[in-house]
Amino acid sequence: MLPFKLVYHERYDLNLGTHVFPSQKFRLIAEQLRHDKIAGDEDFLRPTQAADEDLLRVHTGDWVRKLKTGTLTASEVMKLEIPYSPELVEAVWLATGGAILAAQCALRDGFGCNLGGGFHHAYPGHGEGFCAIHDVAVAIRRMQADGAIRKAMIVDTDVHHGNGSAAIFANDPSVFTLSIHQESNYPAHKPPSTLDLDLADRVEDDEYLDILIPAVERAIGEFAPDMLFYVGGADPYREDQLGGLMLTKVGLKQRDRQVFEAARKRNIPVVTALAGGYARHVADTVRIHVNTIIAAREVAEAFPSAAAARS
Ligand SMILES: [Zn+2]
Repeated sequence: MLPFKLVYHERYDLNLGTHVFPSQKFRLIAEQLRHDKIAGDEDFLRPTQAADEDLLRVHTGDWVRKLKTGTLTASEVMKLEIPYSPELVEAVWLATGGAILAAQCALRDGFGCNLGGGFHHAYPGHGEGFCAIHDVAVAIRRMQADGAIRKAMIVDTDVHHGNGSAAIFANDPSVFTLSIHQESNYPAHKPPSTLDLDLADRVEDDEYLDILIPAVERAIGEFAPDMLFYVGGADPYREDQLGGLMLTKVGLKQRDRQVFEAARKRNIPVVTALAGGYARHVADTVRIHVNTIIAAREVAEAFPSAAAARS
């Protein structure tokens, strides 16, 4: 049994068929965790769809209505880069409900892991790059509205810049956005995060960790967030089809573990979301995401938190 909950729903699948986004990965990750005996029935929680009221703390009424009624323009669908379907909308609303639930779990357990989401390219009024609704931003706003947290930090390790997060929280001193990404990659326009770590092409494990970990330590120390949201992309992997970095599976797990340690040492609850992963072999993407959960378990066991000790 895990010392925290995994949030998952079988309808997280974005219904994309043979698209480069392997939308079956959500199911495969949940299955792998069970198969490897890392998690059993008691470890999983099923989210409900987020309320529109929660989405509207981040998104425009116009964008939410267009998604719900299937009235996106052709150019809006093109920007989204995935085909529109009612199943997509259901999946995105569920993943956002999952982000909120994972954040609530993290408050109680120290960790809360959503086996979906991390849609960091979504803007308030439009979607981009496979991301229609910014699940993590919605969860942050909901936690703030509930008075559960005041300050949040996003640590975004997807190989692509977290442009949606940067835009949404641009003028908000209560949210610190950190993005480490390949500079020459998508998106072309990168609005500034609080801290952007722009990497050259083909960076390897050691250089990556030497840049990321001290920056995370410093940012956490200075900003002192009440909650850390980890957008743990699998796409810095060396065999990713949409990435140009050279990280190994071992390096990626190290990355997850060291970020979690930095938060956990200061008793900061951590919420994880998956984000991108487009490895040539989908099994690699699944393994990298599964390793994030294993890293969380290792850190939870190595650093028992005040939150966990209270329960
Ligand atoms: Zn990505």
